[in-house]
Amino acid sequence: MPHTIVTDVCEGVADCVAACPVACIHDGPGKNVKGTDWYWIDFATCIDCGICLQVCPVEGAILAEERPELQKIVD
Ligand code: SF4
Ligand code: SF4
Repeated sequence: MPHTIVTDVCEGVADCVAACPVACIHDGPGKNVKGTDWYWIDFATCIDCGICLQVCPVEGAILAEERPELQKIVD
């Protein structure tokens, strides 16, 4: 199952972006409710490897399941 970045928990650290083996984590425009940058995962490309979850320093920012209601995406 694809992973999800919870838009309003992410703090824009971006450790996950460099770690993702399929480059499916992208930056979103503007700021989230925390006032930080935020990132989102392309569900269609994610291979569910779990590396992003291992490297993210922000508890609860990444979930090991597809939760589209918690993650803004940019088409
Ligand atoms: S999900 Fe975690 S590692 Fe990725 S940008 Fe957000 S806070 Fe940083
Ligand atoms: S689970 Fe793996 S493929 Fe999916 S976003 Fe995280 S690092 Fe990328």
